[in-house]
Amino acid sequence: MSNERKHLPPEVKSDFLIIGSGLAGLYAALYASKFGEVTILTKSTVEESNSFWAQGGIAAAIDPEDSAWFHIEDTLRAGRGLCNERAVELLVNEGIERVADLIDLGMEFDMGDKGLDLGLEGGHTKRRILHAGGSSTGREMVRFLIAAVEENPGITKYESTGVVKFLSRDGRCYGAVALGSDFEPRVFYAGSTILATGGASAIFERTTNPGGSTGEGISIAYQAGARVTDMEFVQFHPTAFYSEDGGSFLISEAVRGEGAHLINTEGRRFMSDYSDLGELAPRDVVSRAIYKEMKEAGKDCVYLDLKHMDAEIIKSRFENIYLACRELGFDITRDMIPVAPAAHYTIGGVSTGLRGETNIKGLSACGEVACSGVHGANRLASNSLLECIVFAKRAVDGALQNQDSATDTPGDLLSQLTGYGISGSRDTEQKTYTECRENISSIMNRNVGMVRSGSGLKEASRELQECSGYLDKLTGYFKIKLNMILEVSQLITRFSLMREESRGVHIREDFPVENPIWKSHIVLERGKEPQIVKV
Ligand SMILES: Cc1cc2nc3c(=O)[nH]c(=O)nc-3n(C[C@H](O)[C@H](O)[C@H](O)COP(=O)(O)OP(=O)(O)OC[C@H]3O[C@@H](n4cnc5c(N)ncnc54)[C@H](O)[C@@H]3O)c2cc1C
Repeated sequence: MSNERKHLPPEVKSDFLIIGSGLAGLYAALYASKFGEVTILTKSTVEESNSFWAQGGIAAAIDPEDSAWFHIEDTLRAGRGLCNERAVELLVNEGIERVADLIDLGMEFDMGDKGLDLGLEGGHTKRRILHAGGSSTGREMVRFLIAAVEENPGITKYESTGVVKFLSRDGRCYGAVALGSDFEPRVFYAGSTILATGGASAIFERTTNPGGSTGEGISIAYQAGARVTDMEFVQFHPTAFYSEDGGSFLISEAVRGEGAHLINTEGRRFMSDYSDLGELAPRDVVSRAIYKEMKEAGKDCVYLDLKHMDAEIIKSRFENIYLACRELGFDITRDMIPVAPAAHYTIGGVSTGLRGETNIKGLSACGEVACSGVHGANRLASNSLLECIVFAKRAVDGALQNQDSATDTPGDLLSQLTGYGISGSRDTEQKTYTECRENISSIMNRNVGMVRSGSGLKEASRELQECSGYLDKLTGYFKIKLNMILEVSQLITRFSLMREESRGVHIREDFPVENPIWKSHIVLERGKEPQIVKV
């Protein structure tokens, strides 16, 4: 990797510090490089992200039979009254331009006989999903952007460099502290810091996300005084592969878009009992229907049936899903796939305005870590890759209007660099950390999942509080990591307890219907009382 530094210098100064190398971070880095020196940090390898695993595609209203109006309507309908309408208009209208920019730069999406091969997914009334490499859209887009980043002399990237803290004071962010693989702290000063660290769904035991998606950016921002919004809304994807050992991976919505049926354990197709749109209803409707079918049958899964579809089309359009299932003994052209909902997408996050701005000067956020309001209470399929590129550009534009010189940083911020060394045995601390992390995932799965209740949430809250006892047994890196996971879990649980209704992605068993009083967002800033903000 041409512009990767082999040895981390103790201090780096740049105009833009981008944290995270998913679609949002890579796009922000490339665009920001037109205006100044860019540093991009990522805690693992540059390819490790949710973006890399995105399957179905990216939504854009580019077909002559489609229009921005239809896409906006579909997004608002899915969002159950909580979308920020202006943010949705920007997402859809600028999304068309950003996708066109990518194509102009050379990104190749799959083609059909009459031009771009546009797919259909749940909640969309038109074919508007661009995809690449069949169902490997994320991998293709990420690799395309990484190649562009690596060729760009204005961008320096640091892998295995995890941010643990912002350098901030009096409501201003001056950059971040990160730990390399040697656990030594390094300082990255910047005129503008852009957080693009993705979501938190890997804190749940049953998840479609890679293990690193634990919401670290949300915790770091919250600790620095950033507001967080709608943390209770975690989207559970209706069709994640089900196995008894808890392992899970995504079976893309696009599979239903191309005609797969959902079948209950009695062998009956059931989605028409719940929605006129059948299998193509929005995600929350499908997830709830699956939950009801599983509950009534006393089973842990339902099935996706592709047997009636053309076997060759399945193998080429959904190659990675075909291969992953085959490895587990399922030939999806002949066998039904066991599926059940799993934690998939973090709708809430760091509160941002329409230019990615947070309440901390010099700090912006974009992509899944941010909550700009585009998804409301239920994200429309394939809108998140679009959100990444639209709001990454907007975050850079916003930062430009606000930028101070990276040299104007107060020097004594370095006194914040304490407590990163591991003082105990690394093996023992690793073991304790892993044990507690698994415990947290199981608590979240049991009581803070798609179906919640006041008593279950209180129980989760108490159990999470007990977990904080583990922090005393840890030092340095492990303590910081565990604290971040615990903090995000506690935020999700606390917000979930407050929302006494069932809206969008969740069912509260004790408040089973949508309540107009709760057509509101919950916003929280550390040390203050939560605010209920009416839509
Ligand atoms: C299996 C799967 C399939 C999906 N399919 C689709 C789809 O078809 N269409 C769609 O629109 N959406 C899809 N999504 C959702 C979509 O992929 C994500 O919402 C989107 O990619 C998020 O991009 P991001 O750049 O915000 O975050 P990510 O892609 O998750 O990137 C976050 C980056 O931040 C880094 N990071 C995290 N913490 C730190 C730290 N402390 N310090 C430094 N770096 C850090 C990570 O290593 C990573 O590089 C899918 C998600 C999954 C899991």
